[in-house]
Amino acid sequence: MVLRVDSDRLRADFETLAQFGATPEGGVARTTFSDAHLAARAWFLETARAAGLETDVDSAANHSAVLPSRRRGARTLLLGSHLDSVRRGGRYDGALGVLCALEVLRAVKDADRELPVTLEAVDFTDEEGTLVGTLGSEALAGRLTPAALEAPRGGRGLLVAELERMGLTEEGLLAARRDPATLAGYLELHVEQGPVLERAGADIGIVTGITGASSFQVGFVGEARHAGTTPMDARHDAALGAAAFVLGVRETVTRDFPGCVATVGDLEIEPGSYNVVPGRASAKLDCRSIDSAELDALEQALSARAHAEAESFALDVTVERVERAAPVVTDTGVRSACASAAAALGLTTMEMPSGAGHDARGLAAITPSGMVLVPSVAGVSHDAAEFTAWEDCVNGANVLLGAAVELALAAVR
Ligand SMILES: [Zn+2]
Repeated sequence: MVLRVDSDRLRADFETLAQFGATPEGGVARTTFSDAHLAARAWFLETARAAGLETDVDSAANHSAVLPSRRRGARTLLLGSHLDSVRRGGRYDGALGVLCALEVLRAVKDADRELPVTLEAVDFTDEEGTLVGTLGSEALAGRLTPAALEAPRGGRGLLVAELERMGLTEEGLLAARRDPATLAGYLELHVEQGPVLERAGADIGIVTGITGASSFQVGFVGEARHAGTTPMDARHDAALGAAAFVLGVRETVTRDFPGCVATVGDLEIEPGSYNVVPGRASAKLDCRSIDSAELDALEQALSARAHAEAESFALDVTVERVERAAPVVTDTGVRSACASAAAALGLTTMEMPSGAGHDARGLAAITPSGMVLVPSVAGVSHDAAEFTAWEDCVNGANVLLGAAVELALAAVR
């Protein structure tokens, strides 16, 4: 018997969840540990309990709904995503994955289906990086390091203050590690956040790997001088180096690294006034590749480009690494479980890498992991206009359910 999710119940939950932190534009504002985020998490646990599921919150504040297996020593198949959002996010990113995971547990429970593994739907803490980024999943995977907590994305001060306010500790974060021997795998449903599935007309994306991402702070140093009295040929204008670098990044990537992406997402120019030639300019650079060696080469090429542009404008330059997340490859067994679940539903699939980082990146390092993507209309994400047709959401939920059952059965074969 092929199980199906309850589309109406899933939709009602989706609409309810979207009210937590709802913005006038139709998106959600649910940054980590905001009131709206905490309320959404509390609602998630209540909804799980109302469905007769067990619940758990670990020392990294990961929130879980659990459907235990009766089999002794049963391992756990994790399903999940995140309920936090970027400052002004959409209603689907993360939320859909958590709700579909919960719905899988309810569908299995309602059908009285005995599985040889425990199913656990997890809402991971701080995926979007208000504080650290994929904090809960990295903690659960045992990949969190004290160094990552020393220089977190949101700043050390904010992290310390928020942990204290929430009754959490750094020791607790590090102790949230789960023994891989207790896990049967990890499966995550997510909206694609890009236009590939829609363009291809495919129903379901099966993720082959999750992109590696590196970020750098690139600083150009010249000389701040009077904008009226310094001749054009006597300047060391740091803004020119930064501007040339922004265009240079695009040229280097499109010419030499097809399939990769790189972005200068922020520029800061000092002192920042009408009448002073800029003495300093710093650029925030993000570059990504699905292949580790290629990511290394891309990093080197962009660093060389920064040095070349600096030289041509007679500037000094510094290139400092901020973060590097290695690319990961998903498990072929998980991929084929997703493909056969989709085929059983008559859905078309497409194998593709994920250009966005996800909680699955950390989990893939310790347990067989995979991801199911559903189409994002016009590829819009991290914006109130984020939208996925409801039929696609339900298709994804049913693929998640079918794949989870197959993986659960395979776990004891
Ligand atoms: Zn997400």
